[in-house]
Amino acid sequence: MSIAGIRAIVEPSFWAGTDKRAVACFEDYWEHMISFETARAKKYGIDHYVMISCNPKEARNAIAFDVVEAMVPYLDRESVLGVGEIGFDEITDQEEEIFRLQLRMAIERDLLVIIHSPHHNKLKGIERSIEIIKEENAPEEKIILDHNTEETIELTLRETQCMAGMTVYYVTKLSAERAVNMMTRYGTDRMIINGSADWGYSDPLAVPRSAMVMRKSGFFTEDEVKKVTFDNPYNFLAQSPKFKLQRS
Ligand SMILES: [Zn+2]
Repeated sequence: MSIAGIRAIVEPSFWAGTDKRAVACFEDYWEHMISFETARAKKYGIDHYVMISCNPKEARNAIAFDVVEAMVPYLDRESVLGVGEIGFDEITDQEEEIFRLQLRMAIERDLLVIIHSPHHNKLKGIERSIEIIKEENAPEEKIILDHNTEETIELTLRETQCMAGMTVYYVTKLSAERAVNMMTRYGTDRMIINGSADWGYSDPLAVPRSAMVMRKSGFFTEDEVKKVTFDNPYNFLAQSPKFKLQRS
């Protein structure tokens, strides 16, 4: 990743493939990201930042409320830029409650937010997420509304001032080609391309690969490539005083 030009990573809290059985498991996971992963990235000259959450996949569990309580001290840590991923998975009432609690924690502390959208019923998930963002009066410029597809991107751009995330992840989400196609239609303002490196078939080079696809298309200027893969995420992240990456 470093050789491909990646200078900073923001790692959100994710679902590990199996549900964690106790609050302490979440604390261990957050600590692992903050301590170990940040040091590991640094060995390669990459700045590593973290977003803390009870992920939507685990928001349905009985311990979710205690997990949210346990997040508080971690939000003050040096490399923690915000709260994420939060949002909907199966779009249940408890997921909504856990989503709102975490969104409020971010608003109170003026933190950045990443909102996941579900793989199934994505449009409904984005619609309800937008309603909640408006009802909670969340500062939209501090939110990435993530995992947009052709079905949702227009809604996200039209109804919100959030950053519009497109996650290049070949199994359940988008190819780089589809993400780039969406930008030929909707432009590059507020567009963010990110990748997912997890338990599925993952591509840690999703962002530089998307830059290559943008160049190959012949549709974009080099400034637009830089805007999507560096300037847009940089300007979003630089809203956090904890984000220390130098622009150049
Ligand atoms: Zn997600």
